[in-house]
Amino acid sequence: MECKDLQERLLAYLYEELPSEERTVCDAHLAHCTQCQGELEIPPCDRCRPSAQQAR
Ligand SMILES: [Zn+2]
Repeated sequence: MECKDLQERLLAYLYEELPSEERTVCDAHLAHCTQCQGELEIPPCDRCRPSAQQAR
């Protein structure tokens, strides 16, 4: 699984709507991917996101 694959499933993952086998794959990816771990902590709304690029 790549980051974009996880991000496509992120909402379903958060709402626990994924089949258990896909959840397992997402968990495995999240276990080693700090970028996607960060995504989980951000509200899934582009307008709600602080602009990391402009912040600095
Ligand atoms: Zn990732």
